[in-house]
Amino acid sequence: MSFQLPPLPYANNALEPHFDAQTMEIHHDRHHAAYVTNLNNAITANPALADQTIEELMVNVSQHGAAVRNNGGGHYNHSLFWKLLKPNGGGEPTGRLADDINTTFGSFEKFKEEFAKAAVSRFGSGWAWLVVADGKLAITSTPNQDNPIMDIAEVKGSPVIALDVWEHAYYLKYQNKRADYITAFWNLINWDHVNVLYAAAK
Ligand code: MN
Repeated sequence: MSFQLPPLPYANNALEPHFDAQTMEIHHDRHHAAYVTNLNNAITANPALADQTIEELMVNVSQHGAAVRNNGGGHYNHSLFWKLLKPNGGGEPTGRLADDINTTFGSFEKFKEEFAKAAVSRFGSGWAWLVVADGKLAITSTPNQDNPIMDIAEVKGSPVIALDVWEHAYYLKYQNKRADYITAFWNLINWDHVNVLYAAAK
């Protein structure tokens, strides 16, 4: 069984004007596709890994080579990211997550400030995350295609929100203005899926 590129759960242009169609097309059809292809090539070269799920590969990634770390991370992260976006998303968190964000960070506004700080200050390429770690919400960031379920992560936890801050995610529309892209992300976030991840993580 080889890994498959999951289709985007919406049209390339469905996230306009916040994320533009050309960026979505290139991001999914070329970047994510390349991670899947290169991950499958790495598994072909090391058939002992062939029966593992992507999650199983990630949690023991220190035992695998750089190709599994980079391309497996790329596949895991992007598969998660697409589901965390939706047309006409945005608004505010609800339910238990809203309560726990307020308790942990003070308010949703304060949370967004802290999250943006982590996302802007990630030098070079990487991801910003809201995770559940030891039962509590925490903001973290990872370099390259690393993620918080990897055994090598500085802050390990279950992802609840993921934001790609590679330039390929925003450069066509936002150029060097990563902060504007982060602001735009909150207009697309799929809180229903965030709540599903949060319930599972707790
Ligand atoms: Mn990306």
